[in-house]
Amino acid sequence: MLNGPHSDQFAEALRPDVIHRRIRQLSGLGPRYVGTAGEREARQLLVQQLREAGVPDVREEPLTVVQYEEVSATCVYNGALPATGLQFTASGAVQAPAVYLGCPANAAEIEELQGRGVELQGRIAILHSIYPYELLPHITASGAVGVVVACSTPSGLISRFTGRMYPRIRPEDFDESELDVPGVIVNEEALRPVLVDLALGPAQVAIEHVARYAPVETANVVAEVPGTESSERVVVGAHYDTQYDTPGACDNATGLAALVAIAEGAVRSAPKRTLVLVAFADEEHGLAGSTEYCLAHREELNSTIAMINLDALGWALAGERALYADPAIRDIAFEAAAAIGWTPEHELEASTFAGSDYNPFIDAGVPAAYYWRYPPPHPYYHTSGDVPELVDAEMVSETAMVAAHLAMTLANDLSIHPGRSKPTVRYLELRPEHLDAAAPAKESS
Ligand SMILES: [Zn+2]
Repeated sequence: MLNGPHSDQFAEALRPDVIHRRIRQLSGLGPRYVGTAGEREARQLLVQQLREAGVPDVREEPLTVVQYEEVSATCVYNGALPATGLQFTASGAVQAPAVYLGCPANAAEIEELQGRGVELQGRIAILHSIYPYELLPHITASGAVGVVVACSTPSGLISRFTGRMYPRIRPEDFDESELDVPGVIVNEEALRPVLVDLALGPAQVAIEHVARYAPVETANVVAEVPGTESSERVVVGAHYDTQYDTPGACDNATGLAALVAIAEGAVRSAPKRTLVLVAFADEEHGLAGSTEYCLAHREELNSTIAMINLDALGWALAGERALYADPAIRDIAFEAAAAIGWTPEHELEASTFAGSDYNPFIDAGVPAAYYWRYPPPHPYYHTSGDVPELVDAEMVSETAMVAAHLAMTLANDLSIHPGRSKPTVRYLELRPEHLDAAAPAKESS
């Protein structure tokens, strides 16, 4: 266990066996896909756990999101290959020559291939990725007519992904006809004959995707530990939904176990600034709960000094200690971690990757920090294989301790003022001054 000024306060709540029990309990509810019974039960359990932790004010804040439901997904090449829908891509059927893009890390790498003569226009693009939503805008803008994500999950399983992550599509703005092209996900073993044939010459692939989109009610769970000396706030958040058919032990029962533990430790210490603990709804389809939180709490955003994100805190392999942070809080987050012996080995300017609930906060002006373990990614990411047996509770407890230490440092040291966020990429205008200016126009439309 890491040692620092707050380790005693969290020693009990962050004990690995306590963390592991919480992870098992949440995972035991089954998939928490938005709009399902598992999701509702998880929400109720979190309300109960945060109340039991002694947080005086725990409430559900409702929101409506667009739910994706797969009707059918097929990929045909010398017979049907096992396929599932790439969520938030268009419904439709297309048959076209395939083009293989390998495993691009970002759009720039795809552009480099295009510069070497790889043609996307009129093709079905095949690629390996665990964040296809980051690459799809470039692929479709380049004229591809369909997308096949090759997924390397073992045992014939297929991970589920969304084709659109952030900005969130609000139900009132959602227009299915604006989705670009159909997309499917196929296990890479099944796709191998296509990739082999593509190495030797052209290969024609057919895909079909049919989806249903409907509004569904859900809620964020918001718990507040009031500050004793300041009206300023620090938000700590973890999403409680999962992808379609996963128990979500790592993603994100680990973050929720940490959230409840931080609540317990914080209640006992009476922080000077208000600590807000949020279990976010529907992260997996576009950071919907965290975006809605920023919209609903716009009056508080100017006095919200930071957001700390808890998501997928550690599976069985150690991986690298990773810090994703906004530049305004990077040094504070780095030094707070290093001070208790956790030195980040892998860093990213958080706004350059729209991958978790920190993004809306950064767009809202609130600097955010996210400690986790990556790479390597979980081999059963977003599948039924994300089980408690593959989570290392000691490592989760360690990463959670770093987040807890930063939270308490920010909550108690009134001399720390990170200032407003300074993102490289801004996806959405969520800063309070802009929201207020835009509000009348939105109401009249
Ligand atoms: Zn997650």
